[in-house]
Amino acid sequence: MNIGDFNLRQRRISKSLVNRRAREYVEKKPQLKGIIGLYREVFSVQRRMSQRIPDRLPHIEGAQVSSRLQEGKLLLEPEEVEIDLPLLVEMIREIGEALLRKGEKEPEGMRAFLEGIAQETARELVEGYLAGDEDRFNSLAESQPVEPELIYLLLHLSLAPFYWKAAGPLARQADLDQVPRGTCPVCGDLPLMGFLRAEDGLRVLECSRCGTRWGFPRLMCPFCSTTDQEKLGYIYAEEDPNHRLYLCDNCHRYLKVTQGYAGKDEELVLPLEDLSTAHLDLEAEKRGYRRGCRTVFS
Ligand SMILES: [Zn+2]
Ligand SMILES: [Zn+2]
Repeated sequence: MNIGDFNLRQRRISKSLVNRRAREYVEKKPQLKGIIGLYREVFSVQRRMSQRIPDRLPHIEGAQVSSRLQEGKLLLEPEEVEIDLPLLVEMIREIGEALLRKGEKEPEGMRAFLEGIAQETARELVEGYLAGDEDRFNSLAESQPVEPELIYLLLHLSLAPFYWKAAGPLARQADLDQVPRGTCPVCGDLPLMGFLRAEDGLRVLECSRCGTRWGFPRLMCPFCSTTDQEKLGYIYAEEDPNHRLYLCDNCHRYLKVTQGYAGKDEELVLPLEDLSTAHLDLEAEKRGYRRGCRTVFS
């Protein structure tokens, strides 16, 4: 089988596509103008900066890709991501500026943080972030003038383009149609949300960091892996059957899923879907469920 023969198509989103789709969402719901404008701005910085990250050959290929998948190992371990620190610092600054320009209110200490961030600080913060150790990250972030959550968000958004570059060639070599894990098989991060593939209803999740898509069993909870059908179900509003909330009564978490998208799946911009279905998050929380995924901005 040749590279690219697998069925699951990865997303293909460009700046012009995101802009076009963003306008459509805002036309339908004018109250989303602010948050969608913010996403457009951040995406445009990420896209522009990503062009400065050199293409590299993937660090594993062919049989190694399949064997890592079979063993449940990540295709891209944290130490395998190559990060150009000066470029990362520039990215953090530019994304921070975008948040200041388009965000609702200015977070305390943000300007001071952006002005003061040095490569050495960035390196330490990235190490803490990549280690996935919340305490370590928070203790590193505490000496900074902004809240640790905001630094985390800035890093998440700024590292994404490095992950896109590395994840793309790996995802294209891997059979990701049926991967029974609730975190990204390439980089290990949480998904953003899911959609049902038009041709066969396969439930596809999309990584909030590297953007990889993978097929996940419909009869399993992505967060606690239960397959107890008594505990799993979905609901939707009568006036909007294309947006479902999959609820799990075992771990009390939920997943938002889009279905019936009329365009090509590759061009479905899930971050925009997520931002435009915030009312479903409120509904799920009202019913006592916690979000199992990340959001676009957290
Ligand atoms: Zn990922
Ligand atoms: Zn669950």
